[in-house]
Amino acid sequence: MAIKLPLAPTALKQLGANLLGISWNDGHDSVYHVRNIRLNCRCANCVDEWTREKILKDDQVPKDIRPQKMDTVGRYALQIDWSDGHNTGIFTFEQLRSQCECESCQQKKN
Ligand SMILES: [Zn+2]
Ligand SMILES: [Zn+2]
Repeated sequence: MAIKLPLAPTALKQLGANLLGISWNDGHDSVYHVRNIRLNCRCANCVDEWTREKILKDDQVPKDIRPQKMDTVGRYALQIDWSDGHNTGIFTFEQLRSQCECESCQQKKN
């Protein structure tokens, strides 16, 4: 029996001006438009802590938003410093994986 490891990225790579690639320890390669990651930020500045309602407006995020620095937080999340100065967001690996924009994940959603 294979031991199921907790989901974790094995590699982060910039695939293009606005494309980020994450390779996972289960062999899956994810692609993301970096702006979509930023738009899904769930920190207290972007989502109301009590109502879980999204405060962040799409047009508040620059079209050319870029991650400037990425750090793993413990073994469960990624902290990203964005080019618009936003750095309070923590993106859990589970959250990122569920937002994967690769073709096969998109097909499963539709
Ligand atoms: Zn945020
Ligand atoms: Zn995928």
